[in-house]
Amino acid sequence: MLTISKADYDLIRWEAERSYPQECCGILLGQTADRNRTVTLTIPCENVRLDAPERTYSIDPQQVIAALKLARSRGENIIGFYHSHPDHVAHYSATDLTEAHWFDCSYLITGVVKGSAIETESFLLIGSEEAKNFELEEIDIRS
Ligand SMILES: [Zn+2]
Repeated sequence: MLTISKADYDLIRWEAERSYPQECCGILLGQTADRNRTVTLTIPCENVRLDAPERTYSIDPQQVIAALKLARSRGENIIGFYHSHPDHVAHYSATDLTEAHWFDCSYLITGVVKGSAIETESFLLIGSEEAKNFELEEIDIRS
């Protein structure tokens, strides 16, 4: 399960709408206990995928490193990533799975239709590079 504050959840959905018709992306910092992750900070990032930003995304590796350093300084870790699907459903694509490498992290996807955020789903990356998969997980939104 992924626990997230309503403020962070709203920020992710606002980012998805703001970036439309391109994909937004960002990093989630937080804490992990067993298989439960709790978001403590949402970090919006640039989508550096300039070839087709309306259907792909890529976070600048330097931003990932900076986020990791920030997490460590807070005694936390990177626990997930988010991106949006302009005019598409909130389900991961084959490319999303291929390009996901952070195991036991949550990958949030927000579907955006005509500029309005529809559903947001979270998928936990499980397995190993040889045999990986996304598992739909529950999102617990705290106000
Ligand atoms: Zn995607």
